[in-house]
Amino acid sequence: MSDRIFNFSAGPAVLPEPVLRQAQKDLWDVAGSGIGVAEHSHRGKVFDRIFAETEKAARELAGIPDGYKLLFLQGGATLQFSMVPMCLLPKGRTADYLNTGVWSQKAIAEAKKVGDIHVAASSEGTNFDGIPEASAIRYSADPAYVHFTSNNTIYGTQWAAEPPAPSGAPLVCDASSDIFSRPIDVSKYGLIYAGAQKNLGPSGVTFVIIREDLADLGPKDLPILLQYRTHVKDGSMHNTPNTFGIYLMGEVFKWIKAEGGLAGIEERNRRKAKLLYDAIDASKVFKGRALPGSRSMMNVCFLSGNDDLDARFVSEAAKRGLDGLKGHRSAGGIRASIYNAMPEAGVQALVDFVHEFEKTVD
Ligand SMILES: *Cc1c(COP(=O)(O)O)cnc(C)c1O
Repeated sequence: MSDRIFNFSAGPAVLPEPVLRQAQKDLWDVAGSGIGVAEHSHRGKVFDRIFAETEKAARELAGIPDGYKLLFLQGGATLQFSMVPMCLLPKGRTADYLNTGVWSQKAIAEAKKVGDIHVAASSEGTNFDGIPEASAIRYSADPAYVHFTSNNTIYGTQWAAEPPAPSGAPLVCDASSDIFSRPIDVSKYGLIYAGAQKNLGPSGVTFVIIREDLADLGPKDLPILLQYRTHVKDGSMHNTPNTFGIYLMGEVFKWIKAEGGLAGIEERNRRKAKLLYDAIDASKVFKGRALPGSRSMMNVCFLSGNDDLDARFVSEAAKRGLDGLKGHRSAGGIRASIYNAMPEAGVQALVDFVHEFEKTVD
């Protein structure tokens, strides 16, 4: 215990302690099989059961309806930036994107290689300090889909609710940094994707929730691994999946359930975020980066306005066992990533340090 510190890294990020304890045991010998979890064949009975349990736990947690498939892929959220348009944007159609940060921009850049893209709203003009108002969104006439980034990891902004999409246009969401941090109504979406390494598990697994009818779209002459239908047909095992990552996600799902499910996790996430934002709002040294109505519960970004002072805060915090607080290079300042697995004690320790640090600044 005493050798672990508070890890505020944006990703790969902190994992729940009970999950790590269990994984230590299962790496050696899982389910009394005499073989460690990372050493089992993905075609064997032991892994079959782990996979089924992981999928079932995810479905239960988020109340995922029957008409949706769950996929455990590779290539990160970044490969989804390409796969989504390759499969869901037919020739001659337009896809609409909401641009709320660097990850949205990367998704847009990849989609532009595939087809016609319309940016329906953007907060770039104000340095991504907030989420566009619904009234500011200008959709194209008949978009093939609407893509948004639910939480902007780098700028610390988050959609409070799904953007309204034109009827008939499936909503596609990059939920990498806030998936399963609060309840989600999956039936509003066509496709949700997330790299696992922020809220769900280790890096190397991409979790995809896709509406069945969409999984069958896309040219059949695309490379086999770039077609959703391949992964649906072969149960995410067309090739060897990240077996250990899928196992660990299952353990994280069980942990979330034990913490009160998504509603319980959201309640705690709100408490954690409020604790930290309240301290920043009361601070004479720091101010929050995001507009108050757009603030993220997952990535809390703040700054003093003086780069040297911010750097001193980050390095002194690290000496106190508060690690990973340096802001992303494109946003600067300080970023505290307080995903599901960050305990309240970690946020309290950070708040205490903010107060202590302020006393050293005049
Ligand atoms: C971290 C992150 C990504 C990149 O994920 P990879 O798994 O590294 O490809 C994409 N989108 C968002 C919102 C992220 O936070």
